[in-house]
Amino acid sequence: MDQPSRGLPQWDLDKLLDVAKVVRDNASVPLSRFRVGAAVLTKGGAIFEGCNTECLIPVLGVCAERNAINHALIHGYSDFLAVAVVSDLYAPLLPCGTCLQYMQEFARQKSRDILIIAEGRSGERVITSLDELFRGGFPPETSVKDIQESFRWSSD
Ligand SMILES: [Zn+2]
Repeated sequence: MDQPSRGLPQWDLDKLLDVAKVVRDNASVPLSRFRVGAAVLTKGGAIFEGCNTECLIPVLGVCAERNAINHALIHGYSDFLAVAVVSDLYAPLLPCGTCLQYMQEFARQKSRDILIIAEGRSGERVITSLDELFRGGFPPETSVKDIQESFRWSSD
C-alpha cells in the first residue's frame, strides 16, 4: 500500500520510525513499564530522539515526544517537520494532548503543520498531523497575560 507521506520521502518515515524504535529500549519507566520512543525530524534533516522517563513522583515523568523535542532544542533546533512515535502497544499510539500542545507552540512559530507518524508492534502505521489531531489549545495570538488570566480564580 502506498500510504501518502505528506511530502516526506518514504525513506524519511522509515528512518524516523527506526530511530524511535531503537531509543524506545532506553525508556526509563520503573512505574508503568510502558516504553515509548519518539524521533523528530527537523527542516534541515537532522533527527533527534527521545524516550519516556518516569520517577517516583509521577508528575515529573516526561513523554518520549517531548523528550525528543527537548533533545532537539538542546542542540539548537526548533523547526520540526515530523514526529514519529512507537510504543509497546500492538496498535499505533498517538501523542497525548500535552505533547500536542507542546508541538503546536513550535509549529505556530513557523506557521506550519507537523506530520505525525505512529507505528504499532503489529506494523500498522498511522500517518496524520498536528492540525488533524489538535484543533484546540491556546490560539497563536494568545499572550502570556491571557494564559495567566485564564487560570485566575474568579468569584463572579
Ligand atoms: Zn505526551
